[in-house]
Amino acid sequence: MRHLIEPTDLSTAELEEIINLALDIIDNRSKYSDICKGKKLATLFYEPSTRTRLSFTSAMMELGGNVIGFSDAMSSSVSKGETVADTTKVINCFADIIAMRHHVEGAPLVSALNSRTPVINAGDGSHAHPTQTLTDLLTIRREIGRFDNLTIGFCGDLKFGRTVHSLIKALSRFEGIKVVLIAPEELRLPSYMKEEVCDRYGIDYREVSSLEEAIGDLDVLYMTRVQKERFLSEEDYDRVKDCFVLDAEKLKGAKPTMRVLHPLPRGNEISVDVDADPRAAYFRQVENGKFVRMALILKLLEWADRPERDLDPARDTVADTGMRCSNRKCISNTEPHAVKPLFKATADGKGMRCAYCEHRAEK
Ligand code: ASP
Repeated sequence: MRHLIEPTDLSTAELEEIINLALDIIDNRSKYSDICKGKKLATLFYEPSTRTRLSFTSAMMELGGNVIGFSDAMSSSVSKGETVADTTKVINCFADIIAMRHHVEGAPLVSALNSRTPVINAGDGSHAHPTQTLTDLLTIRREIGRFDNLTIGFCGDLKFGRTVHSLIKALSRFEGIKVVLIAPEELRLPSYMKEEVCDRYGIDYREVSSLEEAIGDLDVLYMTRVQKERFLSEEDYDRVKDCFVLDAEKLKGAKPTMRVLHPLPRGNEISVDVDADPRAAYFRQVENGKFVRMALILKLLEWADRPERDLDPARDTVADTGMRCSNRKCISNTEPHAVKPLFKATADGKGMRCAYCEHRAEK
């Protein structure tokens, strides 16, 4: 069975296959309008969402399929303490494919390990958001025309912003990528991302402390919201909430071909006077999310029937009961009775990281 839990679950060729299919869907909508007739997508959303859930729903509807699910986990048996594994086995009786969003990191991987149908990670805590990445890549392809030799600035909350983590991982597949990290001290990219992704795959990155010093070099400026819901205290959030604001004045320093992306929703980080600039691509990006999710659903359903495409979601992992994950928001800590701890070796081979959320393992 194939799932999409992490962007690196897809090879470069498969990423291209999905993007090219999305482009074909855009050009030939009627060709795809019945293709999922009789199929059901289950959207299991344990955390708030507007774009992701509705774009999955409209994607399946435009393919002629049906959608079941919940957008408020408290209205499901989760409120009675049902585990992610059990909920998955139950949903397997009703739907052909699952899209899961969860505030607990690693929950979609646990679902995949227990599922007879494909599982798509629609965002897990601060960890990953691979379908936003597909959306971002389709937008880059349509707006800039290529994936290689790009300089991309990531601005805002690079610590908790799961869309940033997933996009950087996917970019590691391409040649000549330069990344500029623009974040306050408290919201810098986690060390596992620097070590396990940037260093490991040779992504050229630098950290800067102002938007102005980077904007002129960029092909893409990826703005992000400070993730209020992930902060432990209101004071910590207040200190950084308005750290970087892009406005029309700052945009004057950018190339005419640069594009501004944002996974949305926005807070204050992009002033509304930027919206009318042709470089502001974030609302076009939303629509790309529907097309690319149509392509992803089609590909995962197709691959589900082809055993040669199978990829074990537990590949390269080691079960070791002598260690635990250091992240209390990880499913191995929130459902310890139901989830077996799994680890992967770090890039330098000297330590272990949790397979669910990528935090350090501890004894
Ligand atoms: N919608 C994106 C996400 O779910 C970005 C955000 O919430 O700031 O991660």
